[in-house]
Amino acid sequence: MKSQKRVAVIGAGITGITTAYFLAKKGLDVTVFEANPYPAMETSYANGGQLSASNAEVWNSVSTVFKGLGWMFSSGAPLLMNPKPSWHKYSWLAEFVGSIFQYEKNTIQTVEWAIKARSHLLSIAKDENIDFDRKSTGILHFYESKKQFEVAEQVTALLKKGGLERQAVTAEEIKKIEPTLESDIYGGFYTSSDFTGDIHKFTSSLAKACIRHDVTVRTSTLVDRVAVSAEGVEVFSHIDDSKKDASQGISKEVFDQIVVCAGVGSRKFASMLGDRVNIYPVKGYSITVNLEDEANQNAAPNTSLLDDNAKLVTSRLGTSRFRVAGTAEFNGYSKDIIWKRIDPMLKWCHRHFPDMSTENFVSWAGLRPMMPNMVPRVGQGNHPSVFYNTGHGHLGWTLAAATADIISGIVATEQPK
Ligand SMILES: Cc1cc2nc3c(=O)[nH]c(=O)nc-3n(C[C@H](O)[C@H](O)[C@H](O)COP(=O)(O)OP(=O)(O)OC[C@H]3O[C@@H](n4cnc5c(N)ncnc54)[C@H](O)[C@@H]3O)c2cc1C
Repeated sequence: MKSQKRVAVIGAGITGITTAYFLAKKGLDVTVFEANPYPAMETSYANGGQLSASNAEVWNSVSTVFKGLGWMFSSGAPLLMNPKPSWHKYSWLAEFVGSIFQYEKNTIQTVEWAIKARSHLLSIAKDENIDFDRKSTGILHFYESKKQFEVAEQVTALLKKGGLERQAVTAEEIKKIEPTLESDIYGGFYTSSDFTGDIHKFTSSLAKACIRHDVTVRTSTLVDRVAVSAEGVEVFSHIDDSKKDASQGISKEVFDQIVVCAGVGSRKFASMLGDRVNIYPVKGYSITVNLEDEANQNAAPNTSLLDDNAKLVTSRLGTSRFRVAGTAEFNGYSKDIIWKRIDPMLKWCHRHFPDMSTENFVSWAGLRPMMPNMVPRVGQGNHPSVFYNTGHGHLGWTLAAATADIISGIVATEQPK
């Protein structure tokens, strides 16, 4: 039986849909608001596909800052910074640097959540019978120099403190793990417990499961404003202009509680609700190579890869798709696809997989909702009826199932004020 408590969830990306699912399983009356016509059309659309506890290291370190400064002057580098002044960007960068002292604590926290999330996600997929092109052949981090490998050894020790085992592998062992990889490799680390899958497939299917569990999913519905009043949490929204019933104008609904899961839109909602959630949109790109014939399918890797030098990740989605993703661009909210960022990913494929044709590929860009300390904001806001599960940055696919479980537990036990 449903409780009387009504909860609004803003956003139908991976964080919003997993949150709605866990809330519904706890018997709450949940309504999801989503601006797009379908769930998972923004950042949860074509990401790197990795569910990677092995990639849980936060980026707040002195070496990242120095590397970043060097990359700013090279056009094909993994990082691009538009130097145009912006209070949002520079306040975020100042907080990023200010979080360097929390590097170890935040990395351990991220690994712990990632390990929990992997098992939650597998249970959800099993319970709801969701096929998301999962590949359980592990994730291989590879390094072309001894120096890079030695830095990774220190990261491995830190990940171990959070409970993750990853195994050092030699160049010969790497050749066995992924025979298609053609490179002069020094060594790597292999995490057999990590896996990959299609975030869009998973989120869309879970949204359908939510509806089966009585969640109301309002797509093509843009939330204009949220506020807390004596009545409760007020959500003002309107239906997309392109829809027939758009003439209804702005409507107001009142809920007992709200969970903000709006990706890069969460900062704006937080400020309406009296909170500061300093998410910056860090743009990333992906290419999905369509592997049309058997020869091309055999030439593409099956094991998921992470090239720490190029900052690129890969995943094999089913038999006929191979995805490469990466780069971090600090350039505001624009989702424009810039060729200068796509070209290095194609060249990377040609270098490492010379027999794989990239003749047929699709490019994509998305905005990572990134907190300056790289730790998602999961918990209650200043007002007791307001909650956040957002700011998952480069690891939303990896972490969402754990943070949704945590936030749903808190929302369910808190009494609306
Ligand atoms: C190139 C790239 C590669 C990545 N690779 C990986 C990876 O390999 N592994 C990993 O774990 N993570 C990866 N990520 C990160 C991951 O994709 C994100 O962390 C995750 O998708 C964020 O999910 P979200 O639900 O927070 O945001 P979103 O998916 O963006 O969802 C937020 C939703 O809120 C809706 N919304 C916002 N404002 C409003 C409004 N006013 N009204 C109604 N609806 C609204 C939006 O339309 C959107 O659908 C990658 C990201 C990028 C860009």
